[in-house]
Amino acid sequence: RTAPLGHSVIPIINKLQDIAAQLGSSPEFDLPQVAVVGSQSSGKSSVLEALVGRDFLPRGSDICTRRPLVFQLVQIKRKDDGTDEEWGELLHLPGKKFYDFHEIRRQIQAETDREAGANKVVSDKQIRLKIFSPNVLDITLVDLPGITKVPVGDQPSDIEARIRTMIMSYINVESCLILAVTPANSDLANSDALQMAGIVDPDGHRTIGVLTKLDIMDRGTDARNFLLGKEIPLKLGYVGVVNRSQEDIMLNRSVKDALVAEEKFFRSHPLYSDLADRCGIPQLAKKLNQILVQHIRAVLPSLKAQISTQLVHVAKEHASYGETVESKVNQGTVILNILSKYSEAFSLLIEGKNEDMSTS
Ligand code: GDP
Ligand code: MG
Repeated sequence: RTAPLGHSVIPIINKLQDIAAQLGSSPEFDLPQVAVVGSQSSGKSSVLEALVGRDFLPRGSDICTRRPLVFQLVQIKRKDDGTDEEWGELLHLPGKKFYDFHEIRRQIQAETDREAGANKVVSDKQIRLKIFSPNVLDITLVDLPGITKVPVGDQPSDIEARIRTMIMSYINVESCLILAVTPANSDLANSDALQMAGIVDPDGHRTIGVLTKLDIMDRGTDARNFLLGKEIPLKLGYVGVVNRSQEDIMLNRSVKDALVAEEKFFRSHPLYSDLADRCGIPQLAKKLNQILVQHIRAVLPSLKAQISTQLVHVAKEHASYGETVESKVNQGTVILNILSKYSEAFSLLIEGKNEDMSTS
C-alpha cells in the first residue's frame, strides 16, 4: 500500500459522486484542509510525504519549507490497461506536467529561492501544487514552515512572530484539521505544535497529535504515556510515527521502504508493540480517513433532502401533465435506498467494524 491516505474513503466518495451525477446536480463534497504545525525539523514534511506515499517535498535537517506549500490531491480515473499515470502541476509553471516527482521537489526549491532568496528567509507567499493520481482522494494538504526561535541567515529578528502569524492564518480556519507534529526526542511538554493548536482548537476536536522520531529518543526514555494521552490529552488522540532519517534521505531510501521499516520497528518494539492502534503512518491515515468519513456523513442529510425534493418535484410533474414518469420516480427511490444503505455503512466504518467497504 503506497498511498495510505484515502484508502477507505476513496470508494465512498466515488459512490457519492456517482449518485450526485445521477441526480444531475453537484452537491458539495468539499473535504476539510489538513495542515501541519510544529517546530522546525520536527518531521512535518516527512509526515505529509508518507501520507501521500510519494517523494516530492523538500526535507532535511535545515530549514527547508520556507513558503506555505498548498497541495491539492486530485483523483483521476484509473486506466483500463493498468498503466496508471501520476503527475504534478505547479501553478507557477502553467501547462507543464511533471511525471518525475524528484523534479517537482527541485522546482519547489527553485521557486522558494526565487521568492525568498537562498539565505533561509521565509515568505508567506504560497506555492501551489496539484497532484493527479488514481490513488488519492480529493483533499488539500498544507505544508508550513516550522516554528523557529533564533534568526539565522538573512532572517529578520522577529522571525518567530512572523512564522506564528503565518501558521495561525491557516489553522485558525474552523474546518482545518491540524496535524500537531512533535518530535519525541524533544521536551514533549513544551511542544510548539500542541501549544499553537491549543490556541485555535482548545477542546482538541480537530487536532491530531503526531509524535515523530520515536526511533531516536534518549536511551531509557519512551513516549508511552504521551501516546496514551496521559500527559496532554487530545480528543482525537495521538499517533506515533517513524519517518526517514537524514541518513535515509541521503541514501535515497523510498517512502515504500520506509513504511516497511516503520512497521517492523513498532511490531518488534517491546514498549510500543501493544499500542499498535496508535503507531505508524497507516494508523494516522486511518484516523484521518475516519474523520473525513464523519465529515461526509455530516453532509449526507442535505444530499438526502435534495433527493427527496426532486422526488416530490417529479411526482408533481407527473400529476400535472399526466405523463408516465414512473421510471424516474423508481430511479429516485433506488437512489434513496442506496443512500440509506450507505449511511448505515458509514456508522459501521466509523465504529471500525467495516474497514473495507464494498462499493459494488
Ligand atoms: P520539517 O522541518 O518539520 O518539515 O521536518 P522534515 O520532514 O524536513 O524533517 C527534518 C529532519 O528530521 C530530516 O532530516 C528527516 O530525515 C528527520 N526526521 C523526520 N522524522 C524522523 C523520524 O521519525 N525519525 C528520524 N530518525 N528522523 C526523522
Ligand atoms: Mg518542512
